[in-house]
Amino acid sequence: MSEPASRPGSAVVLILGGTPEALDLTEAAAGQPGLAPILSLAGRTWAPRQPAGGLVRSGGFGGVDGLEAFLARHRVRALVDATHPYAAGMGWQAAEACERLRLPRLRLERAAWTPQAGDRWLPVDTMAAAADWIGARAENVFLTTGHLGLDQFARCPNAWFLVRAISPPATGIDVPARWSLVLARGPFHRAAEQALMHSREITVLVSKNSGGTGTYGKIEAARALERPVLMLVRPARPDGPVVPGVSEALAWLRRSVAWSGL
Ligand code: NAP
Repeated sequence: MSEPASRPGSAVVLILGGTPEALDLTEAAAGQPGLAPILSLAGRTWAPRQPAGGLVRSGGFGGVDGLEAFLARHRVRALVDATHPYAAGMGWQAAEACERLRLPRLRLERAAWTPQAGDRWLPVDTMAAAADWIGARAENVFLTTGHLGLDQFARCPNAWFLVRAISPPATGIDVPARWSLVLARGPFHRAAEQALMHSREITVLVSKNSGGTGTYGKIEAARALERPVLMLVRPARPDGPVVPGVSEALAWLRRSVAWSGL
């Protein structure tokens, strides 16, 4: 996308995506008079869902400088960081670019899951820490954290892994032949997750705390099967306002644009 969003009299707003919330916010903003949203995707997902309104751009900006240049070139008036809770790098870059341009920035982040009665969660800061916990144990591990840190588990000689990801691991990541790889995109419901974990005799689940309902089925399944969950802690984010939902983010966009005038 090389030209600014052309919607005369409208304020261009940038939504950093990669989440269902970013898509929904783009559609909602496109339906508002006075807002011209651009949804930005990292470009990693093959055939990502497209919003019904607004513009879409794809691919990295080229660091903070690249993002700053994009924001200035397209006269962006406000930015919503709606990247995935574990895609923190982009959030820090967005914070710095907005700081330089004195641009309003909001974080849209779905609430984290919290442990319920019967859950056996073991928080881990990194995938390396999850691999340390497994160590030499003979566990059957359901690894649902995508490609992140897969290589760490090569040092767990007695464990077997069922790895679930949306797309195949990039070349250069060697998944041992005895592991099983399942390519699937959510939502995943509890009954199917429980049947899968039962049939593969899973003894421990490794998960991100993604929040939302789309991937919560495995957490419910682990609870029902009384299996521990190695829960990857969410990474730190820059300070600033955070909202959990699309309607709050839309209200913030409207306010931000109104305050700064057209
Ligand atoms: P990251 O570590 O925060 O970002 C890595 C680089 O990817 C950034 O420096 C940036 O490149 C580019 N990038 C990330 N998000 C972008 C966006 N929305 N628009 C344009 N460029 C973007 O992110 P990641 O963990 O690799 O995730 C990449 C994307 O997948 C994110 O958009 C995220 O929302 C989505 N996602 C991530 C996860 C996860 O668990 N990490 C899960 C589901 C979806 P430049 O420096 O060149 O600008």
